Amino acid sequence: TTSATAARLDNRFARELPELAVARTGDPAPQPRLLVLNEPLALELGLDPAWLRSTEGLELLVGTRVPDGATPVAQAYAGHQFGGYSPRLGDGRALLLGELTGPDGTVRDLHLKGSGRTPFARAGDGLAVVGPMLREYVISQAMHALRIPTTRSLAVVATGRPVRRETVLPGAVLARTASSHLRVGTFQYARATDDTDLLRRLADHAISRHHPAAARAGRPYLALFEAVVAAQADLVARWMLVGFVHGVMNTDNMTISGETIDYGPCAFLDTYDPAAVYSSIDRDGRYAYRNQPAIAGWNLARLAETLLPLIDDDQDTAVELATQALRAFFSHYEKSWTTGMRAKLGLIGDPGDDVLAPLVSDLLDLLETNQVDHTSFFRSLSTAARGDTGPTRYLLADPTAADGWLARWVALAPQATLMDDVNPAYIPRNHLVEEALTAATDGDLEPLHRLLEAVTAPFDERPGLERYAVGAPPEFGSYQTFCGT
Ligand code: AMP
Ligand code: MG
Ligand code: MG
Repeated sequence: TTSATAARLDNRFARELPELAVARTGDPAPQPRLLVLNEPLALELGLDPAWLRSTEGLELLVGTRVPDGATPVAQAYAGHQFGGYSPRLGDGRALLLGELTGPDGTVRDLHLKGSGRTPFARAGDGLAVVGPMLREYVISQAMHALRIPTTRSLAVVATGRPVRRETVLPGAVLARTASSHLRVGTFQYARATDDTDLLRRLADHAISRHHPAAARAGRPYLALFEAVVAAQADLVARWMLVGFVHGVMNTDNMTISGETIDYGPCAFLDTYDPAAVYSSIDRDGRYAYRNQPAIAGWNLARLAETLLPLIDDDQDTAVELATQALRAFFSHYEKSWTTGMRAKLGLIGDPGDDVLAPLVSDLLDLLETNQVDHTSFFRSLSTAARGDTGPTRYLLADPTAADGWLARWVALAPQATLMDDVNPAYIPRNHLVEEALTAATDGDLEPLHRLLEAVTAPFDERPGLERYAVGAPPEFGSYQTFCGT
């Protein structure tokens, strides 16, 4: 019911950090039509799916219905975009509706994207179109199913409003949840105001929402930084292990919670290529697959700079402590990645670094040289561990190229049963994502639902979904993605 929904939408961010919030509601949608609803997530949030489908529900999902007690706001943030600092970004086409407390007590932001211009819109039209919003829906669903921390998608509503891009396209609003929308860029914005009280309130808000243990540490703000470092190291390790390329790791697209955010130009690797770049605007490959850990470290250094005034009154001491904490990013990342890679290879007992390190680096060389499909290769290894190396060898242009490596690996007694639970059969394949979005833009949602069926249970290989488990056909060519559409 309306009142139940209203009761749970808090305005804590707007109340505690008014300097970072501009009250706003969504633009009216001339002809709202629900394209997709995440019913399991709705139930987790304590929202009634039937109500969300009603006229009132759709008004909530496009931002024109403001429940009692809620204060929808555009959030202010700054950010380094491709290394260059922008002092004022913020939600140009998005709104934080407020915080929802689910029946299990979990607090999450409910946020809209594509709901109209805000004071942060600059030259943008404040709108979003059906294809890219469904893209975020599919990929965030896949990431969640792959057990990668992420913002989640609740619904995509077509607005009935035409949006001018290169051509005229159907408009849409995405409703998503996140454990919060605090970003590195939020701290950069607060720091740039020179208002230490605001910065402290922001840090306290972040500690309370994401890293409550930091409040009890000797140096809470250093502990906050350490917690973000650890969460991001884990997150990026998970991206790398599954072959995810975020594509636009600007500091405004990096969360304090450690969740993946902003599915603009992202893509998954087909053939393994450390230099893979998909985004049309990433001409220098700053955000290439292999650069992601280093870029995360760079972004965290920017976060550290904002926290220095809170870490210690003596800035030399603050720099020293923050530098030490930042160094832990790389060891934490290595540890997470190595643990994950051991699991992918089914190696339960630790074979020791002197065995594992060359085994893994030879494997990655093999995959790169032979342009092997990343996802299919790892998935095939459980069959190889059971004694049939056929499916694995078949993935290489020269099937004998992997024989030496396979023999070394089999000698370590890999455990097939565990591997199928960490190496997905289904990822959102670029060509299938495009196929689904093109059909959906033309009004056919069937391919989208089939794709969602595959990627929301990625480890459970099942008949009828064979085409979701293989790479793009050669005629698909090289893949390019676009931001901000
Ligand atoms: P992103 O590259 O998606 O992280 O967005 C960077 C900034 O551009 C953010 O401040 C967005 O709110 C803003 N932005 C992107 N697209 C639009 C749009 N169509 N209208 C207004 N602002 C936008
Ligand atoms: Mg963004
Ligand atoms: Mg974006």
